[in-house]
Amino acid sequence: MIQQKQNNCNKELLERYSRQIASSVFNLNGQEALSNTKIAIVGQGALGTSTSELLVRAGIKKLILIDNDKIELSNLQRQCLFEEKDINKNKVITAKHKLNKINSNVKIKTYNLKLSQDNINHINELKNVDLILDCTDNFEIRFIINNFCKINKIPWIFSSAINIEGMIIFIHPEGPCLKCIFPDKVQNQFCSSEGILNTTTRIISSLQINLALNYILTKTYKTELIKVNSWNMKIDKYKVNKNKKCKLCQNNS
Ligand SMILES: [Zn+2]
Repeated sequence: MIQQKQNNCNKELLERYSRQIASSVFNLNGQEALSNTKIAIVGQGALGTSTSELLVRAGIKKLILIDNDKIELSNLQRQCLFEEKDINKNKVITAKHKLNKINSNVKIKTYNLKLSQDNINHINELKNVDLILDCTDNFEIRFIINNFCKINKIPWIFSSAINIEGMIIFIHPEGPCLKCIFPDKVQNQFCSSEGILNTTTRIISSLQINLALNYILTKTYKTELIKVNSWNMKIDKYKVNKNKKCKLCQNNS
């Protein structure tokens, strides 16, 4: 009886993921690797909702969602898990509900909080994830993630999107960190003043997931800054190296 149930379950999963299993870069090994992967996503805005949707559809084992915002009318233009009836609702709770409707096999844990230096070490699960995805619009939080990941030896992916441009960087604990790349204080830019096309966030989110899948499937990565102009359809890549003056890398090598 149990064997029969397991066979039915496997059959359903093989059917659900059949199109990506058929992909030469993904195949059954990729599906197995993804089904054993835990990822934390910081931010459930345009990047975060798109990224969590893609990972849930692809068959990730577990997602941890962190955000303390509520859904606003101006979010609906690009934040793909939310609709009109969700306005004023909590983002992570609403996202979890939608994501589990898409794929009920995925475990989703939510934290309704703004990540900070004070609380990051109290989220025990964060130390056990395979990857952290930055989907925020805030360099202070990114530098907190950067410190945490360097000390706890967790790879993470920086992503940003504003107007028609975006950036992505895969940051491995052995390689250059965000402080190596941006040693000085960085001014935040916000969609409320600079604007944002929903195509920009979808492209950046998709590329972020491709980087994540590449790492999960092959355990390889490139230390490069990827800059995207979504309007002109231009992608530039810049090799990044450790900054000899970076104290975080010096103290954690
Ligand atoms: Zn560094």
